[in-house]
Amino acid sequence: MHTQRHRLEIDCRACGTIALARAEPVHEGFRRVGERFVCTACGHRYPSRDETPFVDDKPAASVFSEADRQQAPQVFAESERRRCCAWCGHRVVNPFGQRCGLSNREIESTDLCDRFQLRAEPGSEKPSPPRAADPLSRLFGE
Ligand SMILES: [Zn+2]
Repeated sequence: MHTQRHRLEIDCRACGTIALARAEPVHEGFRRVGERFVCTACGHRYPSRDETPFVDDKPAASVFSEADRQQAPQVFAESERRRCCAWCGHRVVNPFGQRCGLSNREIESTDLCDRFQLRAEPGSEKPSPPRAADPLSRLFGE
């Protein structure tokens, strides 16, 4: 068993897989106040190191059997993937990075947000509303 802290392997609660996490700085204004971690498999964001389910931090990870893991809500992960900030109409891109026009917070393209609003694609002229029939989107809606 390796216990190196450099291995950013997490047992992702969102997609239920062992995946690598990507560290990203958290800023308050221009001050760096910490780190948060993003699951590279599904894009789920953990707001702090303490809340990130690192595999190394969990020697008791085996209490979850493989069967438990398969019951993880993969469907949600798939649905959430479409709620990334990259597709959100509130995303504002500037030379310093990108932020959310609603919260004014710094964001990543892979961030997930419950205020997500599908961006109107300037190029697309599809007449039907996007995925209105998806029952999962109603689950996440207001
Ligand atoms: Zn994940």
